[in-house]
Amino acid sequence: MPNIKAYHRPVNLDDALSLLSRSGVNTAVVGGGTYITAHLNELVDEVVDLQALGLTEVNYSGDRLTLGAMVRLQTLVEDSQAPALLREAAHREGPNTFRHAATIGGVVAGASRESELLAALLVFEAEVQIQSKQGTKRLSLADFLRDVSTALAGGLVTAVSLATTGKTASARVGRTPADQPIVAATARLAPSGTLYLALCGVAQTPVLVDPNNVKNAINPPGDFRGSSAYRRQVAATLAQRVINEVSS
Ligand SMILES: Cc1cc2nc3c(=O)[nH]c(=O)nc-3n(C[C@H](O)[C@H](O)[C@H](O)COP(=O)(O)OP(=O)(O)OC[C@H]3O[C@@H](n4cnc5c(N)ncnc54)[C@H](O)[C@@H]3O)c2cc1C
Repeated sequence: MPNIKAYHRPVNLDDALSLLSRSGVNTAVVGGGTYITAHLNELVDEVVDLQALGLTEVNYSGDRLTLGAMVRLQTLVEDSQAPALLREAAHREGPNTFRHAATIGGVVAGASRESELLAALLVFEAEVQIQSKQGTKRLSLADFLRDVSTALAGGLVTAVSLATTGKTASARVGRTPADQPIVAATARLAPSGTLYLALCGVAQTPVLVDPNNVKNAINPPGDFRGSSAYRRQVAATLAQRVINEVSS
């Protein structure tokens, strides 16, 4: 059982980072709270809620879109300028009540292996902006997901930027249409001709995979919903399907 001793709602980033950098205080960050509030453990002393920070900008510039970390998933679903694939993937993350609370920063930092929104962000060449006491840094989402806690290093995700152009397709296998996918594939053919392929359900997080070598590029952990061999086979089939669709 968590035994929270203090709840903080800082109104600026400096205050939030100061709260997070205190030594000896085990602090949990709350974005929309849809995941973390149910997963606080007895090691957490204090909570830092980001909801008063702002970080809600949605900015289009050239062919890039920048989303503040506290942009809610429902805002993305309703943004008619956003790529259709991104809006659909945000919609699939969960039901309406969940989408009104969950944030883009929480999805990125949460790094759920079944998130089709993360897969969509990967194929749209997303970059993650991280602010810490040491300053601001930007990492590709693919690098960020390789080791989230090292990438964050006590800082916060403040924004995510992504491309908005290109031809896209997605395919999935799940127990029901509303369930998180067992395996999903997402592809994007960029205007430059580069083909991006991301897979869910084949590694600890969604991953970008070489479109020409899917079966050999993955070693999926199996579970009760699908063995490793099943996931590898389904991933290769779905990958081929989405690659054909964007290449036609
Ligand atoms: C049925 C279901 C099951 C899910 N299961 C999982 C699961 O097992 N594991 C999982 O990771 N996700 C899971 N998710 C996805 C999770 O809910 C998403 O990560 C969610 O969208 C997070 O959004 P949030 O803003 O509510 O994040 P929160 O619940 O507030 O936070 C999620 C995580 O990100 C951190 N965080 C939030 N915002 C920031 C920020 N700006 N900077 C740095 N860190 C931040 C939090 O400390 C926490 O670790 C599940 C979703 C659903 C619908």
